[in-house]
Parts: sequence; structure tokens; C-alpha cells
Amino acid sequence: QAYQRIGQTENKVKAYLTLNEEHARAHARLLDEQLATDAPRGLLFGLPAGIKDNIVTEGLRTTCASQFLSNYDPIYDATVVQKLKKAQSVTLGKLNMDEFAMGGSNENSSFYPTRNPWNLDYVPGGSSGGSAAAVASGEAYFTLGSDTGGSIRQPASYCGVVGLKPTYGLVSRFGLVAFASSLDQIGPITKNVEDSAYVLQAIAGYDNMDSTSAKVDIPDYVSALNGDIKGLRIGVPKEYLGQGIDPKVKESVLAALKVLEGLGATWEEVSLPHTEYAVATYYLLASSEASSNLARFDGVRYGVRADNPDNLIDMYVKSRSQGFGEEVKRRIMLGTYALSSGYYDAYYLKAQKVRTLIKQDFDQVFANYDVIIGPTAPTTAFPIGSQVDDPLTMYLNDIVTIPVSLAGVPAISVPCGFADGMPVGLQIIGKAFDESTVLRVAHAYE
Ligand code: GLN
Repeated sequence: QAYQRIGQTENKVKAYLTLNEEHARAHARLLDEQLATDAPRGLLFGLPAGIKDNIVTEGLRTTCASQFLSNYDPIYDATVVQKLKKAQSVTLGKLNMDEFAMGGSNENSSFYPTRNPWNLDYVPGGSSGGSAAAVASGEAYFTLGSDTGGSIRQPASYCGVVGLKPTYGLVSRFGLVAFASSLDQIGPITKNVEDSAYVLQAIAGYDNMDSTSAKVDIPDYVSALNGDIKGLRIGVPKEYLGQGIDPKVKESVLAALKVLEGLGATWEEVSLPHTEYAVATYYLLASSEASSNLARFDGVRYGVRADNPDNLIDMYVKSRSQGFGEEVKRRIMLGTYALSSGYYDAYYLKAQKVRTLIKQDFDQVFANYDVIIGPTAPTTAFPIGSQVDDPLTMYLNDIVTIPVSLAGVPAISVPCGFADGMPVGLQIIGKAFDESTVLRVAHAYE
């Protein structure tokens, strides 16, 4: 059925980079046979899933939407993929994204841009644009995305689906191709909040293959969805509804807050005073980490090697020049500069300090409130091509997702209406490792 749907819509949406049809059908047949027995069924038994193409899958091409990795077939599964297999979901294929997860529109994919199923002339958001578009168009029951500065939440918002970025450390990053290791998190994109809770249940938990994996008890996320939010205290940051936020987006968020009030919650305006520094801080830190992480792509160990080099250095240079796209090169340059001696203190170290201030903003609000609520993005999806030549405008789309990433706390985007025919997302932000509350509020609202 999933492949039937893919057959109908994929030529328009272009959510997938690689399909796994033969394997998926064989897997589905095995599950069918299991139905006739009383063998215990996995938590996600038989659910057809798509996986973002920066999450490695054994024997299944994994390109990160980069020419550099256009021939890369991993020899192992990421921890999350192992967990999905254990939960018995079926992997349909690998999903399009911005190259190495750098971008917010899918236009940085070095193969082709995915389109927004609500309007094919609009971007699906990014970098997990394929993951969001596949769920919105019914080309997968659920998908996995990755979020470094908003890449799960913003495309979910643009495509009218549910996207959850877990607390940093809750879900293993082993087998996620690293972009900015101190920020990257894998999370589910689903049609509704209950599905999000199920997928999180399957993928969360300590992993000794990831040194930043947290040793915490995993609660029962599904039973947290009891609909009860009476007495819930919501903080609404004035910075998230001020300058730069589309008035129609603001209207949808205020309407959602009314609904939550009707369910017994109360809200007050609060302040996250360092919000204005978040975008600059993020692009310095993320680019610095990326410049270091991407040093491993040298044409020797992974991916495509340039032809006819003059010598070893020439081979590195040619492979990297040909393999990486514009935006990736821009970030490597920016990050290398920020980390270079003489500039380290002025840029990287300074940005680390501001990151702490941003985190403290959240700590202060969470001392008195259970969740923080605002929009997921300042606007709805924009037309393909309208921002590609303007990286700064593109970076500003992340203004309300980035602070959350820098603080490492969890947040979900749930649909909260439409503006000019395109979906709007409501962002519900929680305390570290309090996914249960985030999911409970999202589920009560939905
Ligand atoms: N748009 C942001 C960036 O380009 C976020 C990307 C992400 O979360 N992977 O870095």
C-alpha cells in the first residue's frame, strides 16, 4: 500500500532518494507469516517507515544528499535503525534532505529538491524536508529526521505534520552522520502525537556506542497522553511573538493558547532575553563543529574520489571541491575561520559563553512554568527559489527553533491552523528529559 501511494505521488513530491522496495516487501511477507503465529509483536509491528538519508542503514545507500557520498553503502545500521528493526517496522527507503543537514528548505540537496505536498511550488522546509513531505503525502506511516537547529520541527511545521526533537542525549546518535555533534538529535515525524510517542518509545534510551547518550530511565510516553492539562503553567516568550513573526502565524498561536486555556491551562508572557543572539551563536558553533566533523571526507575513507590527482594533497582538494556543495563549503570556511588560532577566543569561545546564557534563560523560565509555547517558525513555507540566494534570510527562519537546540531541551511542533493556505506549526518546549509533558500537552491540544 505504501509503495502504491509512493507510485502515485512520488514523481510530484520527490521525498525519497533511495527506495528499498524488494527488501521491504520481503520483510513485510515475513511479518505476514508471523501474524499466523503467536510470536510477540514489536511495538511498531508492520508500520512502513522512511529514514532520513543521514542515518546509516546497512547495505542501503546513504548519501546525506551529497555528491560526495553518492556511492556510499554503509556496512552497519545506526542504533535507531537497529531499534526500529527490533520494533518490527518496515524500512521503505531513504529520504531527501539538505546536504549534510545544512539548510532549511531542501534546496541544498545535491540531487533534487523535495516539494511541499500542500503546494508543489513551495519548499517542504528542511533539512528533514523529505521526512516531513513523506508523512504529509502518505508516502510513509512515520519517518525519522534529525534536528540540529530546527530540522525536524520546521519542516513538520511547513508540511502540517508532527515533529519531535527529543532532549539532547535521549536518542542515540550512533550512525547519524555528524553535522554539529553537540546539537544533533534524531526524532520522529508523524501524522499525530500518539504516533510520535510510540516511535519515541521505540528509539529512546542509553547506548554505549554514543558517548553523549544519557543514562536516564525511559518512562511510558504513551500512557502520559491522558488529556489532562488542568493547572498547567505556560510561559509565552515575548521574543517569539514580536518582530519578524508573520502576524497570521501569531494569530494562529494565540488561538491555540485559547484552546489550551479552555482545557484548564494558564499562560503568561515571559522573556528569553538572549534570543536575539541565538542565530549568530548557532551558526558559529554549528559551522565550527561541522568543519571539524567533515574533515573525515577526504576521498580516501568514504565516498567518491576525484579522478587523476597530481598527488595526495591534490586528491584531497579535488575530492572535496567536487564532492561538497556551496552551502557545505560556506560552513566549512566559516567554521575553520572561527576555530583558527587568533580568532578562537573572539568567536568560538564567545559563542560558547553566549550559549550558556541562552540555556540559563530557559532554566529561569522553567523554574516557574511547565512548558514554553510559541510558533515553530516565523512564517509558513515559502516558494521554491525565493530565498536560495540569500543565506542570511534563510538562517533567520531558524530564529525560534535554534535557542531550543542550544539549550538542549525537547520540543514538538504540532499543526495549529493555516495562513494563506499553508500550515502553521505550534512549538511546545519542555524541560530536559520531560518529553512526557511535551507530548501530553501536544496531545491534549491536537
Ligand atoms: N536550518 C538550520 C541549518 O541550516 C538547521 C539545520 C538542522 O537542524 N540540521 O543549520
